[in-house]
Amino acid sequence: MTVASQQTENLDVDAIRADFPILHQTVHGKPLVYLDNAASSQKPRQVIDALREVDERYYANVHRGGHQLSNEATSMYEESREAARRFLGAKSNKEVIFTYGTTSSINTVAHAWGVANLAAGDEILVSEMEHHSNLVPWQQVAARTGAKIKALPITPDGLLAMDELPAMLSERTKIVAVTAASNVLGTINPVEKIIRQAHAVGAVVSVDAAQAAPHKPINVVEWGADFVALSAHKMLGPSGVGILYGKQELLDAMPPFLGGGSMINTVTIEGFTPAMLPAKFEAGTPPITAAIALKAAIEYLENIGLANILAHEQMLAEYAHQLMADIPGLKILGPDPQQKAGIVSFTVNGVSPNDIGMMIDTAGVAIRAGHHCAMPLHAKYGISSSARASFYVYNTREEVETFVAALRKVLAILA
Ligand code: PLP
Repeated sequence: MTVASQQTENLDVDAIRADFPILHQTVHGKPLVYLDNAASSQKPRQVIDALREVDERYYANVHRGGHQLSNEATSMYEESREAARRFLGAKSNKEVIFTYGTTSSINTVAHAWGVANLAAGDEILVSEMEHHSNLVPWQQVAARTGAKIKALPITPDGLLAMDELPAMLSERTKIVAVTAASNVLGTINPVEKIIRQAHAVGAVVSVDAAQAAPHKPINVVEWGADFVALSAHKMLGPSGVGILYGKQELLDAMPPFLGGGSMINTVTIEGFTPAMLPAKFEAGTPPITAAIALKAAIEYLENIGLANILAHEQMLAEYAHQLMADIPGLKILGPDPQQKAGIVSFTVNGVSPNDIGMMIDTAGVAIRAGHHCAMPLHAKYGISSSARASFYVYNTREEVETFVAALRKVLAILA
């Protein structure tokens, strides 16, 4: 197969790149090759324009005004919620909560649902590939409630050990908190299967979709998920805003997490009654501008098609695997490209990932090095850090070539 024949069908990367002003610059005198998308993606002009339009034309606080600007901001905020509902396949806008990101979404589930529903003797099942955001809140809640945390192991090739799941689930399992895609390995997990098995023992399932939502079609109803968390800044949107999806009956039954303005129905000196959904979980002034601009990011992704995005990323990951295959001492963590999103994390014998990251930056190539907020996962592999190149819809095969050529040069010095 020639290089040219491997471009992704249905996806015009040149046209897409033209929408991303930040990509057209040099870094250290070299054209920028941005491969740190798993940390934060870049924004297309459409999102940048949406952000500016809010602040230039109708910025005001939402759900509070009565005046023209506030009404306009409120209706755009609610339109964005509707876009998020459609994107997730949720049944009702009441099930779509604006948060500050995945971390704040998961903390809402852990501290509101968790504290109300967990007790000593109960079990919280996570996996060994969780981001700290889907681990630490559960550890905090376990410490408060006496519940115990168990972790579904991963196999040496970076998949969830699904054959061990049935034995780890029991009537003691009250919640399964699992990622839909790993931010280190890229592994796409069989969420539907996990949810089916967890529901069979009566457990609730909270899905960390921070790395799945940007890269593959998701449908919370088809999954059967009880809670789903995601961040806008990983899916072409702004930072500071995210979504928590929750099944209405669960959100209705659990207490509010943060208290303050907007989340109340009535307040006296002695107490309060909570607002209806979704306001019940949106205490205080939300990230107004960012939340409204999320709609532009969602529309941009929908126009391209999430299935096309995944196919493109997998093609790039496959190409990277191919080009990196003969680098001495290099080991790619995780499964083959067809089982993962476009993430290639790797180690090289005797070389510090941080040194690779710093040196490759001088070639204009932005990758990430460190534990990627997944220390237990790295510990499982007997390492403390890795280097990670992560691809997105605007990356090209030529950029993969530039990255691997730069990596070879760096290793010629470091290895
Ligand atoms: N979960 C996963 C799998 C992630 O990759 C990340 C971010 O890297 C998070 C959670 C946390 O997201 P945020 O920092 O946007 O809250």
